[in-house]
Amino acid sequence: MVVVMKQGATEADIEQVCSKVRNAGGEAFVSRGTVHTVVGLVGDTARFQAIPFTQLPGVDHVIQIGKPYKMVSRDLHPAATTVKVGPTPVGRDTFTIIAGPCAVESEEQAMICTKAAKAAGATILRGDVYKPRTSPYSFQGLGERGLEILTECRRETGLPIIIEIVDVSQVAHVAEVADCIRIGTRNAQNFELLKEVGLTAKPVMLKRGLAMTIDEWLQAAEYIAQRGNSEIILCERGIRTFEPATRNTLDLAGMAVAQHESHLPVIVDPSHAVGKRHLVGPMALAAVAAGADGVMIDVHHDPETALCDGPQALLPSEMAALGKQIAAVAAALGREMNV
Ligand code: PEP
Ligand code: MN
Repeated sequence: MVVVMKQGATEADIEQVCSKVRNAGGEAFVSRGTVHTVVGLVGDTARFQAIPFTQLPGVDHVIQIGKPYKMVSRDLHPAATTVKVGPTPVGRDTFTIIAGPCAVESEEQAMICTKAAKAAGATILRGDVYKPRTSPYSFQGLGERGLEILTECRRETGLPIIIEIVDVSQVAHVAEVADCIRIGTRNAQNFELLKEVGLTAKPVMLKRGLAMTIDEWLQAAEYIAQRGNSEIILCERGIRTFEPATRNTLDLAGMAVAQHESHLPVIVDPSHAVGKRHLVGPMALAAVAAGADGVMIDVHHDPETALCDGPQALLPSEMAALGKQIAAVAAALGREMNV
């Protein structure tokens, strides 16, 4: 960190900055320029966060040199991490397909979609029981009954399950049932929820918030890692832009930046990014080609009657065809598929 003093800052102002740094256990180095004097701070930057530098007399601004996240950064951990979801490794060695219904609606619906996901090459099942809906009048999920259905789907197919939670009160119970907990886009900066899942021993998938910068996304992941849980998978799911033709704008470059900055696996959810069935396949293939570590795709056997996100759900036959195309693109890049 560097503290830049105002033109005309007095010696007393500079000394006050230095003494605050020393009191926090750091070292301060003063460099006097013709216009500005700067104070370089050496030591654990976390110790300096509590010092209100910009409110001290004579201080102009503060420049952060290190990244605002550490544990999830490649600086600390250069090699890519693989996160195990049940028996499925998610990481850079193999490409992972996660598929299933947006929401669990009934035992029959969930089982059909689970089998379709598995047949298409998925090695993790998605299915939600607590749905964070924009409208309070929309289907909110089956709750506990849905968890029982997902457990049955796992028993029947062997696929590990990933489930979204929307509240701190659900963490402990869902962590017992699920193989991976998901934090959705709307809760990606719910810091109390992030801290709570950071205390569990289950992997966490963290979606990018609707309007989050990549830095903010990685800082959200840092909340989880800081509490002791480094089993984190990042998921790019589109961000809010001015373009209404798609539900969101899929930021594939953002996926690649996250992979570059962080050692965590990064996957892509094309379904929630585009919101339209015919665009899901092309964006999933683009994600594979761009080097994502996996994709997560909505499947429904009867999308017209789906209680949630029907327009973006692939039919089982479409999912099967896409599974083959994904494997072909991965093979062309020398990337093995998860099996
Ligand atoms: C979902 O995956 O079902 C979902 C609600 O996604 P998001 O949080 O990205 O909107
Ligand atoms: Mn959905």
